[in-house]
Amino acid sequence: MIITVYDGATTIGGNKIYVGENGRGVFLDFGLNFARYGKYFAEFLTERDIRGIYDLITLNLIPELKVYRKDTIPADVDTSSFPELSIRALFLSHAHLDHCGNAGLLDESIPFVASPVTSAILKAMRDISPSRLASEVAYFSRRYPREDLRVLEANRKDNYCGRDFYHTKDFSDDFHEFMCSKPGQDGKNAKKLDAGEVCELCEKPLPFEVYAYEVDHSIYGATAYVLEGDTAIAYSGDLRVHGKKGEETKDFVRSARDASVLIIEGTRAGREDYHDSEGIVYENCRRVVEQTDELVIADFAARNFERMEAFAEIAEKCSRELVITAKDAYMLHAIECADGIHRMKDLRIYEELRAKKDKWEVEVVEERWGDRYTSPSEISENPELYILCFSFYDLKHLLDIKPEGGAYVYSSSEAFSEEQEFDFVRLNNWLSRFYFETYGFRIEGDKPVFEKGYHASGHASKDDLRWIIETVDPDVVIPVHTDNSGWFEKEFENVVVLGDGESYKLG
Ligand SMILES: [Zn+2]
Repeated sequence: MIITVYDGATTIGGNKIYVGENGRGVFLDFGLNFARYGKYFAEFLTERDIRGIYDLITLNLIPELKVYRKDTIPADVDTSSFPELSIRALFLSHAHLDHCGNAGLLDESIPFVASPVTSAILKAMRDISPSRLASEVAYFSRRYPREDLRVLEANRKDNYCGRDFYHTKDFSDDFHEFMCSKPGQDGKNAKKLDAGEVCELCEKPLPFEVYAYEVDHSIYGATAYVLEGDTAIAYSGDLRVHGKKGEETKDFVRSARDASVLIIEGTRAGREDYHDSEGIVYENCRRVVEQTDELVIADFAARNFERMEAFAEIAEKCSRELVITAKDAYMLHAIECADGIHRMKDLRIYEELRAKKDKWEVEVVEERWGDRYTSPSEISENPELYILCFSFYDLKHLLDIKPEGGAYVYSSSEAFSEEQEFDFVRLNNWLSRFYFETYGFRIEGDKPVFEKGYHASGHASKDDLRWIIETVDPDVVIPVHTDNSGWFEKEFENVVVLGDGESYKLG
């Protein structure tokens, strides 16, 4: 058995881990490495999709392997010397881009293994926003060389190609239907989705016995895996113990006791941070809402629906209504198809000013919840009746709502780069312009300072990491998704730190 960490060994995110035995193997995640990507690229300087994998390969942002879609390899990329790997499947731990954001490049013969909730989120992300070539995970447009063979483009009329998805759990007909069609595809001239195979993992033979465990993280559907071949390997993905699904994380940890190797995330291994639970966050946010008789804006990370549910509960307790964006409503529909839980209950949808709604919004959101739309003027008239779920990029809508005061609760992670820090200065300018009190951060000088108690991390604390490792008690611990593998080496005896591209052989 061999484990090769192609990426994500010494950075937070970008996991691309290969596990092979007897010449056959699987990948564990195939994420976008933001740390490395950010060395060259920024919001308005990105890789060129018309050059296929050329930009990413040339800048060493994806590994040189014969694993990519043939239609993404332009004439000036010679892959003949790249090592060949037999890949029977890609196991996706969850729908954060640092775990799945390069998966769109993988050869289409490779099926993706995921929880139904993870596939639903990936499919919804693809339905509602334009994706880069590398992050076309759920389905993609096939590229063709143009007259200049270095240039690759999709044909406008081609259907979309859906990926094969093998699911860790059984699922409903609604879910199957959701995965196999795209809103708007019945229109004349509309591109349709040629769905891949959407089935259950247990129907498919793979090189390993696979056990999947849903775990607690800041996005629903997160899954940890135990792969059993000649020996057993446990892979944590991203996880924590201190959220709503903490017990599920514990179940995974106890079930992984027989694993010889534990590949574990270490996001917080390098951080001297405080540790708040979701319960404390809930109480603090509720107090802010109770003390405010003006508009409240709740800002939490995209797709952190556990936090959204906490704010929905606060809204109910404080006789307010929670207003979410149409994109979030579409996501909630997608997740409901996967897990059957109806989360839209009393939520309202922000009616954005625009010329025309997209097909996904008309056919799914408006069709189901057309009576839930709340206009900017309704909010202006009675701001004290609402909690608005907005983040930085939605603040332009304040120009239509025109609030005169309110509370802004920043309930998300701290800034980790200077660029992000500058966004907080900009955010603060917006909030001052509309006389908001802010909670969760403040600007001192020209830098943000983050206040405790309004955000709980999606990752295990050092103490919880220690508990996980001691409980699993593996022969070998391989840390990934961390900028402090030294912490693991200091704390435990059996740690193997693999640099990017390095392998560990067992047996
Ligand atoms: Zn994550």
